Amino acid sequence: MRFTKLRLTGFKSFVDPTDLVIANGLTGVVGPNGCGKSNLLEALRWVMGETRAKAMRGGGMEDVIFAGAATRPARNFAEVALTIDNADRLAPAGFNDSDQLEITRRITRDVGSAYKVNAKDTRARDVQMLFADAATGATSPALVRQGQIMELISAKPKNRRKVLEDAAGIGGLYARRHEAELKLKSTEANLLRVDDVIEQLA
Ligand code: ATP
Repeated sequence: MRFTKLRLTGFKSFVDPTDLVIANGLTGVVGPNGCGKSNLLEALRWVMGETRAKAMRGGGMEDVIFAGAATRPARNFAEVALTIDNADRLAPAGFNDSDQLEITRRITRDVGSAYKVNAKDTRARDVQMLFADAATGATSPALVRQGQIMELISAKPKNRRKVLEDAAGIGGLYARRHEAELKLKSTEANLLRVDDVIEQLA
């Protein structure tokens, strides 16, 4: 599984459709201050399922939509599409039936976010799981924000452990365990209710 292209439309400063081709080897992005280098990395995190507006340097998630400029009106939606080469068929189960994956996230004002994988509507959670199972995702330690090194140095041991766990690709397993625990709790509550009903009938 290899990221090959990132397409941004109406995302932050990228008002017109813009393709970032991620070739084999090292890809460098250079440019003057404020030209949008960090916005590219944020677009990558966002399409992988980032839910924290603060991590996108915004007050609310709709702040990722192009807010307008002197000569351009604001946009009503933002979209990011990430193309993944899956010729090696290493994508997690459920997403492994084609040589290429295109994950799209679109946010529309007053509507919210919607995800697609190869043009098929997909739940946010399933997109997050896809990346977590592939040992990457919005919180991947491979994506280093400005100031993150200092945060890591001064982090509590528990938070530092989380970074190691994400790097080891077991974040998805934790999410599944949490979900299983919630299901177990709700099943236990249902069983109690059944006991009550049986008692009333007896
Ligand atoms: P530096 O080198 O200083 O870190 P950078 O190249 O990483 O800068 P970014 O921080 O990615 O630049 O981009 C900041 C630019 O994006 C600013 O000009 C800001 O006005 C613009 N921007 C951010 N959000 C939006 C938005 N919603 N609509 C329009 N422009 C936006």
